[in-house]
Amino acid sequence: MAKGLETHRERQKKLSLLGKDLTRRSRAKCELCTTSGVALSIYEVPVAPKDPDLAHVIHVCDACSSQLDKPKSIQSSHWRVLSETVWSEVPAAQVLSVRILKHLAKTEGWAQEILESAYLDEDLTTWIEEATIA
Ligand SMILES: [Zn+2]
Repeated sequence: MAKGLETHRERQKKLSLLGKDLTRRSRAKCELCTTSGVALSIYEVPVAPKDPDLAHVIHVCDACSSQLDKPKSIQSSHWRVLSETVWSEVPAAQVLSVRILKHLAKTEGWAQEILESAYLDEDLTTWIEEATIA
């Protein structure tokens, strides 16, 4: 078996172990759009450390994760809720919110307004700049 695949599986296993803590933190709601009562998956917010940890993952619903996987499919109406999520107590959710807003702000004035009103710690700003949505 290829070594890459093995490393990948090992990592997936470690990630899945975070599921319980994530459910507790998210209270079974999508940590981006706050939808509840749907299946949630573990999403790593880049750049994630080699060993998965709770600080770098969030719980997301399919509607959010599928749009994040295919930035071309991003529908701006889905992300209005980020005006609240950008103030989340979960830093990884804040980081991803700002990246999505930055992406949307290229065409959406409201996204730019949220970005201008958001206050973020310096550490988060550094993390945000390490990657983009598209
Ligand atoms: Zn969601």
